[in-house]
Amino acid sequence: MIAEVIVDIASGETDRIYDYYCDDNAVVGSRVRAPFGGKIVPGFIMRLKETTDYPKEKLKGVFLCDDGLPALNKECLQLAEKITARYRVPKALTLRLFLPSEMRTGKVRERLRSYAQLCIPFEDMVFGRAKKQRAAAEYLRDNGKTDCALLNAEFPAALKELEKKGYVVITKEQVLRDPYKTLDRENVLHVLSDDQKRAVQTVETDERTVQLLHGVTGSGKTEVYLTLIAKCLAQGKSSIFLVPEISLTPQMLSQLRARFGRNAAILHSGLSAGERFDEWWRLRTGEAKIAIGARSAIFAPMENLGVIIIDEEHDGSYVSETAPRYNTFDVALLRAKYNRCKLVLGSATPSADTYKRAKDGEFSLIRMDKRINKKPLPEIVIADMRREVRKGNNSAFSLALKEELEKCLSEDKQAILFLNRRGYSQTVICKECGYVAKCRSCDVSLTYHRDEDCLKCHYCGAKYGMLSACPDCGGKKLSYAGTGTQRIAADLQKLYPTARILRMDNDTTSGKEGHYKILKQFGEKKADILVGTQMIAKGHDFPSVTLVGILDADMSLHFSDYRSRERTFQLITQVSGRSGRAEEKGKVVLQTFDPENEVLRFACAYDYEGFYQSEISLRAAMAFPPFSKIVRVLVTGEDDGKTLETLKTVYFELERLYTEQSEKFLFFNKMRSPIKRIQNKFRYQVLMRLSDTSVLPQIYAVCAEARTRDVLVSVEENPANLS
Ligand code: ADP
Ligand code: ZN
Repeated sequence: MIAEVIVDIASGETDRIYDYYCDDNAVVGSRVRAPFGGKIVPGFIMRLKETTDYPKEKLKGVFLCDDGLPALNKECLQLAEKITARYRVPKALTLRLFLPSEMRTGKVRERLRSYAQLCIPFEDMVFGRAKKQRAAAEYLRDNGKTDCALLNAEFPAALKELEKKGYVVITKEQVLRDPYKTLDRENVLHVLSDDQKRAVQTVETDERTVQLLHGVTGSGKTEVYLTLIAKCLAQGKSSIFLVPEISLTPQMLSQLRARFGRNAAILHSGLSAGERFDEWWRLRTGEAKIAIGARSAIFAPMENLGVIIIDEEHDGSYVSETAPRYNTFDVALLRAKYNRCKLVLGSATPSADTYKRAKDGEFSLIRMDKRINKKPLPEIVIADMRREVRKGNNSAFSLALKEELEKCLSEDKQAILFLNRRGYSQTVICKECGYVAKCRSCDVSLTYHRDEDCLKCHYCGAKYGMLSACPDCGGKKLSYAGTGTQRIAADLQKLYPTARILRMDNDTTSGKEGHYKILKQFGEKKADILVGTQMIAKGHDFPSVTLVGILDADMSLHFSDYRSRERTFQLITQVSGRSGRAEEKGKVVLQTFDPENEVLRFACAYDYEGFYQSEISLRAAMAFPPFSKIVRVLVTGEDDGKTLETLKTVYFELERLYTEQSEKFLFFNKMRSPIKRIQNKFRYQVLMRLSDTSVLPQIYAVCAEARTRDVLVSVEENPANLS
């Protein structure tokens, strides 16, 4: 038998299929070890055939790895080919999406773990001055058999000594690593509300593949997802459930674990390679039938899918930022079609693009307009920060917010303060009138460029001079970015010395369970106020929270991104949704320098429909997506000369496409990338806006051709970030 093998080396030069002799019982999708260029490298069988044109005397044989099951199933192989073709990336790179690293590199190790336990009575042990050993032995006395890895971390070196002394025996046992033991809690089953019942029914009976579940925060979307998953499970079918950032949603995880036990497998980047492998393998063998994870879980190896769910479908994390830069929705749709199952998108604030497709009838549209607790959505009051500044209040807290905070604390409720700081905003804002510098032709905020001391539009490349005073009011208090969470927490502590304050941002959350610990503490009411960034906006359900403060609501309005209005609306809705989820009515104080802003007004009124109408007509007028596609070709390399050389090749070829098919382009321009060097790499870009995406494959082809060993050429569609 001859096998067509992809070797797992992700470079352009090896990106082809190689023929090898193989065993007659080989199966497509199996992992092999193949002699290649004087080395033995991992690979995968893509196809099998009887004969080959390759000269027999040169043909080598591959070694079949015995995994019990081929690593890749038929659907995955097919999907991999589609993705490779669509994004023009080396095949090996696509295959990596489907496999945990341990599988790929062949380090699939025995899942054995060492455990230690005392083997003589603690009282008979002698420690002398060995404090660590004593502590370790005490730990074992109190906790019984314990994982050696844990002991070694806690009490370095002590274990070995205890073993030598004959106090401890170490045994090896096969384990299935269970990464989320700590999350377990009781299973709460709800009787579905009428809205929920209707949603489940529609998903099951509507003929369209894509079902958009547009439900306000607290309307009980999760229960709809869980019901759908449970129904699939009962029919022996599997499901994929995607959430934006899995480490931020421990509550969701524990709920899933409680309901589905070991039928659920959790895939996420915080797991160790071994843990991830175990979870993946449980899915591959069918032992677990529910995959839960962030975007990459869409590649979970299951067969017979009954439903795919994408929660918070509007979230930016669903687009990959490394090659292949796939869009999770596109992959999910392919899988849903292959399996003839439904793809459910859920959100309180669907992206304009998705919502348009639902309104146009391409997707089904299911609404859940009421909260489960039948309470109104929390009232949002606007605090005008320009007035505060004029009145001499330069602190980060408005009077209104302080009043509400005091009330909240005195009533023994909890508050969440949200700081709108995604990345670093380099936009200029006038603190006196709220003016923000914008591009005259694109209506997006300009970004300050330190190196050239000017303001630039990231969409058309227009340059503007720096401002010394506000063009609207003449004010001199121009500011770039506000304060960080750390400052806020410190200021807050000064204001309320007895309040217990927790902070959650990238600095305070490390490790797999860092977020979880903070959220757990807050959930157990061990703190009164939680201060945080975007991380605290998502899906949390804290019944005692009755106040949400949004400290700088307009900050994200001014990111130089055509989606910044949409992002702001989504953020405000999401964060506000954390307030008043149980018995008590909730309140939200929204602080802004731009109180008349239409987006904020729509958000305060929870008027999604109004916002959407305004947004979609603006997008149409400006020819932004979904009425066009923005494409950026990014050329990066360490050597400026070589990078520039490649840019020229790419540019020349793209320009040819542009001249030949100019009717498909709305915009075509070359310019230096906004950030010239990132991590020592020179960056150049060609920016395009397409009215007709039929040239897209050609653009990808040009870039795939131009890619060299030293220079990376990548294509981004509707990039979230143009820096
Ligand atoms: P969403 O995801 O739409 O914001 P959740 O799914 O988090 O809303 O649900 C909000 C709250 O309502 C949760 O505390 C959940 O446990 C509760 N809940 C959901 N469905 C029901 C139901 N049918 N009966 C009672 N409580 C429910
Ligand atoms: Zn512009």
